Amino acid sequence: MAEATIPSGPVDDRALDESVTFTSDLIRIDTTNSGDGSCRERPAAEYVAERLAGAGLEPLLLERTPGRTNVVARIRGTDPSADALLVHGHLDVVPADPAEWSVHPFSGEIRDGVVWGRGAVDMKNMDAMVLAVVRAWARAGVRPRRDIVVAYTADEEASAADGSGFLADRHPELFEGCTEGISESGAFTFHAGTGMSLYPIAAGERGTAWLKLTAEGRAGHGSKVNKANAVSALAAAVARIGAYEWPVRLTPTVRAALVEIAALHHIKADLDAPGFDVDELLGKLGPAADLVAPTVRNSANPTMLDAGYKVNVIPGRATAHIDGRMVPGGEEEFHETLDRLTGPGVHWEFDHREIPLQAPVDSPTYARMCAAVELFDPGSHAVPYCMSGGTDAKQFSRLGITGYGFSPLKLPVGFDYQALFHGVDERVPVDALHFGVRVLDHFLRTA
Ligand SMILES: [Zn+2]
Repeated sequence: MAEATIPSGPVDDRALDESVTFTSDLIRIDTTNSGDGSCRERPAAEYVAERLAGAGLEPLLLERTPGRTNVVARIRGTDPSADALLVHGHLDVVPADPAEWSVHPFSGEIRDGVVWGRGAVDMKNMDAMVLAVVRAWARAGVRPRRDIVVAYTADEEASAADGSGFLADRHPELFEGCTEGISESGAFTFHAGTGMSLYPIAAGERGTAWLKLTAEGRAGHGSKVNKANAVSALAAAVARIGAYEWPVRLTPTVRAALVEIAALHHIKADLDAPGFDVDELLGKLGPAADLVAPTVRNSANPTMLDAGYKVNVIPGRATAHIDGRMVPGGEEEFHETLDRLTGPGVHWEFDHREIPLQAPVDSPTYARMCAAVELFDPGSHAVPYCMSGGTDAKQFSRLGITGYGFSPLKLPVGFDYQALFHGVDERVPVDALHFGVRVLDHFLRTA
């Protein structure tokens, strides 16, 4: 595709520069969320709100807890009959230990064309790019087709209780008319070997099921016969869960991903053929198999054990924790399987639970996202994928909003997006931000 066919739209040099400055500035505002309630997103929220106001919008600052600030603003579209689109990004970040980093994680340093710091890909980059696009529209007098609601949230990296959970519970009116949303964890370049560039667009999330197992038995002396030993019962249940091979359950998103990625490898995949073996197919897909493998089945991994206090005392109770994940549609099977694997005498309950999500990959919006990245990176291929973890999209799904992971970044070979996510030396190339601004502008105006 010739360079000249790439539309420039209202994106000017200032928008490109602002995406970089805003990313760097937001990184410098330390919004570490350790999950202990000490995080304060307010300075970052004020930074964003000031710049939205500069674009002629009327941002609202909303808090459930003082200092845990969310920002919401609406941009009026030109087609009042169209459904609104939510664009959301969180303002908090996970902790970073400066001792482990090459540069200070909260310096926002720009070195050799790369912006460094915690939040560079998760997700102050997206926060900044959206801000830059909205401001470019204001300068050029551009309005999108659909109403666009922009939301900058607190507390995504913990429970979302002060962020998207609070917004969905207490301020649903701000999202009126929104049917779809875009946010983090999608549309980054995935280098799949042999020069193949993929852009995985998230159309689903596995659900989270953190479990607590408890075995109750009869306490007693360690030298006595004891058929009601809580430690033995718990250990047997944990061993069964750890060894269990979950059956393959292919959701529509994962099916589409398998077929499309296989086709790019010149393999015709018939997922419904008798004897079809997903693991065998994954083995032929090279690095791209990593995009699909974690989401073809449920999983449940034992992670913590706790029982007893003295070698010659049989305790009356033993507990364990399991990190379980459920594919969309796999919740019932998850419950039944856990009931069966734990067996009598061992009780299980949810410590923390988040529903799985599924978004259609045959919607016009999904098609437009694919077209937008492929337009600005000719020769690349957008493919659907299901996220193995969760995002704010789960909270907004309660308002009937279908969530996609779409925060475009064009990354060079050697930039492993998924390793940088929550990783040491998180960073983003300036060119990647420029690409993201162009794609977002094009997609959001025409979505
Ligand atoms: Zn994130």
